[in-house]
This record gives sequence, structure tokens and C-alpha cells, in this order.
Amino acid sequence: MATDTLTGPTIVGSATRAKVYKNFIDGEWVESVSGQTFENLNPADTRDLVGIFQRSVKADVDAAIAAAKRAYAKWRLVPAPRRAEIIYRAAEMLIERKEDYSRDMTREMGKVLKETRGDVQEAIDTAYYFAGEGRRLFGPTTPSELPNKFAMAIRQPLGVCGMIAPWNFPMAIPSWKLLPALVCGNTCVIKPAQDTPLSTYNLVKVLSDAGVPKGVVNIVSGFGADAGAPMLEHPDVRAISFTGSSSVGRTIGTTAAQSFKHCSLELGGKNPMIVLDDANLDLAIEGGLWGAFGTTGQRCTATSRIIVQKGVYSEFIERYVERAKQLKVGNGLDESIDMGPAINERQLISDLKYVEIGQSEGARLKCGGHRLDSGDLRHGFFMEPTVFVDVNPKMRIAQEEIFGPVVSIIPCDDLEDAIEIANNIEYGLSSALYTRDVNKAFAAMRDLYAGITYINAPTIGAEVHLPFGGTKATGNGHREGGLGAIEFYSEWKAVYVDYSDRLQKAQIDRVD
Ligand code: NAP
Ligand code: MG
Repeated sequence: MATDTLTGPTIVGSATRAKVYKNFIDGEWVESVSGQTFENLNPADTRDLVGIFQRSVKADVDAAIAAAKRAYAKWRLVPAPRRAEIIYRAAEMLIERKEDYSRDMTREMGKVLKETRGDVQEAIDTAYYFAGEGRRLFGPTTPSELPNKFAMAIRQPLGVCGMIAPWNFPMAIPSWKLLPALVCGNTCVIKPAQDTPLSTYNLVKVLSDAGVPKGVVNIVSGFGADAGAPMLEHPDVRAISFTGSSSVGRTIGTTAAQSFKHCSLELGGKNPMIVLDDANLDLAIEGGLWGAFGTTGQRCTATSRIIVQKGVYSEFIERYVERAKQLKVGNGLDESIDMGPAINERQLISDLKYVEIGQSEGARLKCGGHRLDSGDLRHGFFMEPTVFVDVNPKMRIAQEEIFGPVVSIIPCDDLEDAIEIANNIEYGLSSALYTRDVNKAFAAMRDLYAGITYINAPTIGAEVHLPFGGTKATGNGHREGGLGAIEFYSEWKAVYVDYSDRLQKAQIDRVD
């Protein structure tokens, strides 16, 4: 049996050879104390076993937190520019391994290679950005109200941070959490989604290879209730960063609040794209296809509602549907494929259920709606790109996050009407407007109540140095990306240095 320190023995089954991947705790690759594992399957072809992962339990999480707590004592004292150098090295290693990691990601979660390359690239961009921040953890100095007294505010790390990630951006999202946390001097325990542990594992491996000291980053794979929940109540965890659904997010936030943990929630979306009569229609159609069907519609920022002004409504639908029908669905490892599978069977069933719901609500199914299961596709969770038209904004398909390749096209009278439809929703993550009228663009930038607005681009395409997150049920006010992440992973300490050699009383010693 082949062994290596990273993965342990290779299991040779009758039809498959799959690596066993371990947890990384205190700088060691270790098995779960549960003795149990789970399989990571390729959703494009479930005959392909991507790997076998540890099914961790509370004792594993506790061990990881204890290691992170020990490591924190030293890591917080490493100068931030030195911490940043390690992150910079990780970026360079990610570049070298980009193609392998992209292929791993396509195998474990199905999105097409050009998108998984983008996901790994996002981790690289994030690493370069936060490496730069290592020399920029600025705080204010400000005049004191008293003479011979110096006042400033410095950023302090929080301590051990617990992180729980979703499966749709399995390297990018963990990088948004781990890298700013590390540069600020925190130590981390991360639980990846059960559907995509390998990509997060690859990121942690890079960090370890780049020189992150033992115990500073720990990964514990497993299911949410077993390997995620124990972080939420643990007294030694000071912050929780969660990305996932709004329903799980509500539980996470409520539980973490009991022990006053800092808690960042990045949750669901139901993102509108508005197309006005004066829009460049070619551009809007192109953007609307990419926004709705990229990542099989499984992006929190996916374009799931297209709100089109009446003057171009018919033409938009005709041309959009024509193009949607031409999208090639299949295994994302094939470079000619446009759209991969749903992440798992449960998600596919849910997507198909929404097709039924839309039809029963009276929306017009213009294309798609079926599972694709001919030939090799029957081994995966494939579905046609699906377009509903004449959707009423109150319908469930226009209100609920589907998280699949199902888009609702809604007619509107004008910009004001479109904004009303766009905002009248539980979520507030991303939004988009296609117009050539600068006045309308600026009005929409002001009035769309969402964390992100694109003008003449679809609802997807965030860059790592800008704030990422949303309003209402999309989150609790924090932002990932850019300086928002530094804000979350540090806390302020105000420092006063009195060099007057006498007791000075703030607010009381005044010369009136
Ligand atoms: P999810 O079902 O909420 O799961 C997210 C993570 O939470 C997974 O790691 C999951 O573990 C874990 N989890 C589940 N129940 C838990 C519990 N009781 N305690 C602790 N952890 C628990 O979401 P998902 O299906 O992975 O991702 C899709 C959702 O994420 C969509 O709603 C999407 O909009 C949202 N999302 C938001 C953003 C954003 O930044 N706003 C970005 C991407 C995705 P297991 O999977 O192992 O059970
Ligand atoms: Mg998988």
C-alpha cells in the first residue's frame, strides 16, 4: 500500500483507487477519533470517487481549537509583515499548482474548468492582497484633549477563529476567511462543506508548505452538525465566520451570540438584473446567460431574476432563450462544456421541484426544466438551463433562492418599477442594471438595496479588494474582501500615553 504523510494509505477497491485524506491538526495529518470517513464523489460522474475524508466529531474540533489556542500565543507576536510573507509565498505556490487544483475542484464540485481556474485565481488574488495588507494594518493617531498626552488606536487579533464554508467556491471562500485572519495574527480552524473538502484541503496544504507554523491553521472535515456546530459554543473560539444558507446562518448567529463571539454571516441571494429599453441588448443577453447559468446557477450572486422593460421584453426573451438552449451541458473537465451538474442529488431534486412550482404558479416555462440523463450524463446530476418568462414578482420562483440553473424573467414598466421589484425581496446581495443612460445608472446605484451593484455587467464578478456581502437576509452587516475583512479579523484597542508626569483627568481637567 502506498503511503504519504499527507494522505495516508491509498485504498484499492475493486473498481476505484481513492486517497484517504486526513484532518490537519497541530501541524499533523491525523485521522478522526470517530474512526469514520465519508466519500467525496464527482457530481458529474458518481462513479468517480474523488477521495475519502474524515468524518470528524466534537473531539476532533476540540483538539483543533486547543492546538489553535496554543499556537496563538506565538503567532500573534510574529510581526504582521512576516506573517504576510508566508501568505505571499502561498500565492506563488498556488500559481504553480493552479491547474492541478482546478482539476481537483472540477472533479469534486462540477463547475467547468475555466470557472475552477477562476476560483483558484481568486485565492491567489486574495493572497497577494492580504500579503500587502501585512504592512498596512493602519490605525489612527489623534490629538488628545489633554496636553502632553498621546492617543492612538491599534489593531489587535481576536484569537482563535472558527470558519464554516459552503461548497460553491471551495477554495476562494476559505481564502477570504483564512488569509485576512492570518495576516491579522489570528489562528484558525476551518470546516469545509462535506461536498467539497478537497479544495479547502489543498489551500491548507499550501499554507502549511508556505511555512505557516503548526497549529496556526487547522482543517477538520465532516458534516455541519458534527464538525461545524461544536465551534459555535466553544469558549476558546472568539470569532465565527460562516458562509452558507440563510436558514443555517440564523442558527449559527443565534448560537454564537450566546458566548458573545464576533460573527460574520454571508448568506443567500436572489439577485436581480434590470434591462432597460435603451440597453445594449447583445451585452445584456451575454451577461444574463453568464450570470444565470455560470456555476450552474449555484452562486450566491447568481442572476436569478431578469427584470426587463416592456419595450425590449419580447426581443430579449426570444434571443435569450435561443442562446440558453444552445448551452452545452456536461462534465466540466471537457473544455467545450458551458455548464456542469448540480452539486448533488438533493440539489437537483430541489431544482426540478422549483420547475414544478413555477408551472403550478402560472409562469411560462420557455425552455429547459428537465433532468439530462442520456448516455454518460445519467451518472451525474445534470439539468437543462431553464428559463421562466412572464413571472410575477410575488411567485415563489421569483422570491426564493433556487440555487440552480433556473432564471425568472419579469416584465417592468420603467426603472422605478424595476427597482421596486428588485428590492421587494428577502435578500440583498447583488444587483445589476443595463442601460446607456448615466442618470438612470446613478439613480440605480443609489436605490438598489443590495451590497453590490453592477452597471452593464451581470450580478456575478466580484473582485477581491472590494467589500463583498449583502443587506437583509444576506448577512449581518459584515463584509468579506478588502478592508472589511481586516475590520472583522481585528479589534481596536485605544492606547493613551500620558507623558505629563501628573494625573490628568479626561473631561474634568479643563481650562474654561
Ligand atoms: P449550507 O447548507 O448552509 O452549508 C454551509 C456550511 O454550513 C457547510 O459547511 C455545512 O456543512 C455547514 N452547516 C450546516 N449545518 C450546520 C450546523 N447546524 N452547524 C454548523 N455548520 C453547519 O449552505 P451550502 O448549501 O453549502 O451553500 C449554499 C448557500 O450558501 C446558498 O444559500 C448561497 O447563497 C450561500 N452562499 C453565500 C455566499 C455569500 O458570500 N453571501 C457565498 C456562497 C454561498 P455540511 O455541508 O458539511 O453539512
Ligand atoms: Mg463532491
